[in-house]
Amino acid sequence: MSFWADKIAADAQGPQIVNDSKTPSGRVHVGSLRGVVIHDTIYRALKQAGKPVKFIYGVDDYDALDTVPRYLDRAQFERYLGWPLCNVPSPDDTAPGDRASDYAKYFMGEFLDVFEYLGVRPEIYYLRDLYRSGKLNPAIDRFLKNAHLVREAYKEVSKADRPSNWYPFQVICEHCGKIATTQVTDYQDGKVFYTCDPNATDYTQGCGHSGWVSPFDGNGKLPWKVEWVAKWELLGVTIELAGKDHSQKGGSRDVANAISRKVLGQQPPFHSPYEFILVNGTKMSSSKGIGSSAREIADLLPPQLLRFLMLRTPPRTAINFAPNYESITRVFRDYDNLIDKYRRETIANGGQPPALSEDWMSLFYAQLDGEIQPYQPFELSTAISLLQVPHLDVEKEVADRATEPMTDYDWQVARERIAAAQKWLNDYADDEEKLVLYLDSIPDRANTLSPEQTNYVEALLKALAAVESWDGETLQTALFATTRELDLKMPVAFSAIYLAFLNKERGPKAGPLLSYLDRQLVLDRLQAVLDLNRTPV
Ligand SMILES: [Zn+2]
Repeated sequence: MSFWADKIAADAQGPQIVNDSKTPSGRVHVGSLRGVVIHDTIYRALKQAGKPVKFIYGVDDYDALDTVPRYLDRAQFERYLGWPLCNVPSPDDTAPGDRASDYAKYFMGEFLDVFEYLGVRPEIYYLRDLYRSGKLNPAIDRFLKNAHLVREAYKEVSKADRPSNWYPFQVICEHCGKIATTQVTDYQDGKVFYTCDPNATDYTQGCGHSGWVSPFDGNGKLPWKVEWVAKWELLGVTIELAGKDHSQKGGSRDVANAISRKVLGQQPPFHSPYEFILVNGTKMSSSKGIGSSAREIADLLPPQLLRFLMLRTPPRTAINFAPNYESITRVFRDYDNLIDKYRRETIANGGQPPALSEDWMSLFYAQLDGEIQPYQPFELSTAISLLQVPHLDVEKEVADRATEPMTDYDWQVARERIAAAQKWLNDYADDEEKLVLYLDSIPDRANTLSPEQTNYVEALLKALAAVESWDGETLQTALFATTRELDLKMPVAFSAIYLAFLNKERGPKAGPLLSYLDRQLVLDRLQAVLDLNRTPV
């Protein structure tokens, strides 16, 4: 068995060109990063295998604006519906010198910043350049001349019946500037005849203009399934995976494959579908207006963690992700555990890192520079708790918790964790997930303990007064031992602790929680809660 990307690399023969693409129609969702990281990892795997490879990424900016995203001013952009994205003005309102030249560059720029953050560095190309420079002219001519074969491919594969005067081309209307509304019905002497049809789409109206125009040098585009094939041929693409939505039987990838074989007589690139990233909708659009764009998630997760999130699940399995306490702390914990295992094996091998077997590949490809650099793990959940304890010097707590002296890199990672924890608390945490510690007053609900919980508090007072060291693990052990001693169910026992300090029945791991607090404060509080519940009302 080998890691999925290494398997693709091992099977590849000859020089490879890995391609992926994106339509910059608005803020890019985090789900679009899955394809980016998958293709980047295949590219890295090929390099790792010593095979010649290039990674290219296309910006489909000749596609039409088909909706005005909710975060833009509808009145301002409505008139551009149906226009090629590269011809729509930028929504950017910064000074003209810094402003993106157009809508496509603006949103793509935001996405490319995330590429850079993730260490993904493909050669970027823009469809506007391929069209306007004339590089796609030969393909356009060929597909227009073989329109009947394109129609056949659509019909055979997707059962879509195109009329006999349908041609695979969309002109940019000379009168109204829209590309989504035009229909080409003839091709003669290097010119197409088109009509800007008022009823061509349901989101915008064509102007009714018609006439003959050259289809070359940027005057229009191929429909995207045909354009896909034209790109493969022009750029020599050998590997391109597609999301599940495009990979259904009879779906767009099947149509493109059929067009490639039928019109060009060429085998399509290697393909394998990948699944979606499912995002918990309610949590992703919190009241603070923080959403699920690639940019926003990149602001939350360090780059290796974001890559790891995409890589630890095989491409054919859906990723469930929501930036809630549970998902976020789990990604960090899984990553830290793997790093720690790597570190321990390296030490056990006398300083020699373990051989790169399948077990390590998701960690290896999560790195930005292809080198796994171990560190002393520092749990995100601990950082989240520490940040919420009033009057606490978080960095001092980190240093106190380290089992070995902290190196510069240990500090770098710890500070990254603290920053991520702070960001999560500020922008994503629900009130339920936040820790409100009652340090100066006894919570209202602390007097509602059952008799067995009251007995637990009494036993705990003795146990905690006797522990030799006030650290999370020792305290956790003492809490468990006391639970067993009284033969109590754990949730029942622990909710007594949470009621005494948090005014609620659940909370984070109780041992570490108490360890953040002053010992005397804990003992005094438990005594007070005991008195409160023993006093007859
Ligand atoms: Zn028009």
